[in-house]
Amino acid sequence: MTRVGVLGLQGDIARHAFLLKELNVNVVQVREPKDLDGIEGIILPGGESTTISLLLRANNLDEALAEKIHSGMPVFGTCAGMILLSSKVLDGRPDQLSFDAIDLSVRRNGFGRQLDSFECDLKLESDFFSDSAQHFIRAVFIRAPKVEAVGPKVEIIAYLDNQGERIPVVCKQESVIVSAFHPELSNDSRLHQLFLSLL
Ligand code: GLN
Repeated sequence: MTRVGVLGLQGDIARHAFLLKELNVNVVQVREPKDLDGIEGIILPGGESTTISLLLRANNLDEALAEKIHSGMPVFGTCAGMILLSSKVLDGRPDQLSFDAIDLSVRRNGFGRQLDSFECDLKLESDFFSDSAQHFIRAVFIRAPKVEAVGPKVEIIAYLDNQGERIPVVCKQESVIVSAFHPELSNDSRLHQLFLSLL
């Protein structure tokens, strides 16, 4: 049985674990370096990227996890997880950790006060979903990061249309997938399936 980790330090851990189990995956909550042994991929959940950063360091997981990610282990980062994986974080704390795993500049809480939290339907634009009966996915944004720059190797899988501006909200670069919203909060595991297809 496929063994996949969910970073279990802070944030929405349980819903990701639930969805993975529904997909017949053996789930390990990763809290210390030895939990990384034998996992084939990992999800970094949404929560608070500064807190997760502190806890990664406190639990000696920062370097061990960086090594796994940079050796090509598939990783799926949602919301705070997207921030942790991006190459550049704007409005972050100066000491917050960045795995520099996907070539994106993201602004923390970049949707501003008015749009702090919102939901919408987004079109999934990847061949992976071409057989899917319906391509739209329900997206729940909670104090989400906003992508402000995208590197040349990044594939954009979904955009948010925001007052004429097309903002990338699901992106992929090789074995790294990120979403600005919380896919675990809608009853739709297609992005989790895309992640599992990389293992
Ligand atoms: N604003 C949070 C951060 O900076 C992310 C919010 C979320 O993960 N829902 O980490």
